[in-house]
Amino acid sequence: MPFDFSNMKMSLLAELRRDGIRDERVLKAVESVPRELFVPPTFQDRAYENIPLPIGRAQTISQPFIVALMTEMLQIEDTHRVLEIGTGSGYQAAVLSRLCRRVFTLERHQALLKEATKRFVALRIHNITSRFGDGTKGWPEAAPYDRILVTAAAPELPLRLTEQLREGGVMVAPVGPERREQRLVRVQRTGENHRVEELAEVRFVPLVRGLPREGTSENRE
Ligand code: SAH
Repeated sequence: MPFDFSNMKMSLLAELRRDGIRDERVLKAVESVPRELFVPPTFQDRAYENIPLPIGRAQTISQPFIVALMTEMLQIEDTHRVLEIGTGSGYQAAVLSRLCRRVFTLERHQALLKEATKRFVALRIHNITSRFGDGTKGWPEAAPYDRILVTAAAPELPLRLTEQLREGGVMVAPVGPERREQRLVRVQRTGENHRVEELAEVRFVPLVRGLPREGTSENRE
């Protein structure tokens, strides 16, 4: 019997509200993206649990609450151009795409990027541009961005990326050592200055410099 995703989705949305997500636009964006299509078939029945799930290559699709929280913290407007680092399953990019003009998203695992791109096509999402590459360098050709969202944790605040923000632009990024004591940080660029706020304690996979080499363990399932 097929799963009743709509009921599961409604209880997830109720949970997100209860946990403090207030922005109706964000809740609507989460509601409009079928998370079951962004997780491996074996985990589909758990797609609307408020948990991260494995997506291959030792990576995870983030917990829905964290996706909603980061999206809310970005304060996206519909004219915005948004850069995401770490496409992964493509789920966060799909949520962002409902709220802004264009999303640019970078992924360092070719296989994950390919799957994500297929999902964007299947869902007829036309305002996401995705690319294979090392996100620690950003995507200078398409800069400046109104918003940048980093979905993998760097040991230090990736301030280099803020150079690709427009004046007044905002970046949200998890910062901290691998799997420990990470904080979600919001940075606003004003001229050469940055206003930095710590938002929440989080746990993300690491932001890894460079691209995976062929035949290394990193490149296996
Ligand atoms: N936003 C994703 C979450 C993915 S987990 C989603 O909604 O599913 C973080 C992702 O960041 C992983 O896919 C990982 O491969 C990627 N990543 C890590 N370091 C990176 C880098 N330097 N450049 C691009 N992507 C990177």
